[in-house]
Amino acid sequence: MATECPYGTCDGSGFVWHMPTEDRPTGYYTVCRCHADEVRRKRAERLLAEAGMSADSLEPYTFGRFKPEQADATAAGRRALAVIKERLQEYAQAPEGWLVLMGGVGSGKTHLAYAVVAERLARKRPTFYGSVPEVLDALRRGFDGNAGLAYDKRLATMQGVDLLVLDDLGTEHQTPWVAEKMFQLVNYRYTRRLPLIVTTNLVVTKGEGMDPRIRSRLLDRQLCEVLTFPAGDYRQRREAS
Ligand SMILES: [Zn+2]
Repeated sequence: MATECPYGTCDGSGFVWHMPTEDRPTGYYTVCRCHADEVRRKRAERLLAEAGMSADSLEPYTFGRFKPEQADATAAGRRALAVIKERLQEYAQAPEGWLVLMGGVGSGKTHLAYAVVAERLARKRPTFYGSVPEVLDALRRGFDGNAGLAYDKRLATMQGVDLLVLDDLGTEHQTPWVAEKMFQLVNYRYTRRLPLIVTTNLVVTKGEGMDPRIRSRLLDRQLCEVLTFPAGDYRQRREAS
């Protein structure tokens, strides 16, 4: 690399030359800290791209910017939102099991799902975020045969990534093919107990509009925790303030 070494320990090559000593009479090279930084930076960039996000798209959705006390909700609703935020902050440290974020449009569930993604990516952990309609669209395009390889790769990413976030589950137009793809994806992670966050407008416990096979997995208390967002408009109040 042609850049200067920020530590001043190498000549910009990424390698540090060590003069011969009694123990190592030939002298030797080690990798400089600046090289490790560069590797980490590239990896972080790649992770972000693979996550389907850009740094800009995530920037507004940190935990710090989520303020339950400003939500347009009752006092009890704001308290509930604060508890949910805390739970998600904890989950973002080390995701285990599944979370269902259940709430209406503007309830703040997508903001908090983003915040988890941002936190995981900041920790350089492979994470994938996808809105379900877009994910299915991408899979369908692959299925049409135009991008077979991309399809396999994307599906493999979603199946095996450290943390998968599926935004807006249940709004997708259900065809047998769509239902099957979603089920395969969810079931892959279910059988392996891989962390998953699902957001949905649907009332999962009522089971309306959701594939019963997926629903039964979301209701598995051994694995999955359902967080119900309080009624009210988190978004409206934030934008107004
Ligand atoms: Zn260096």
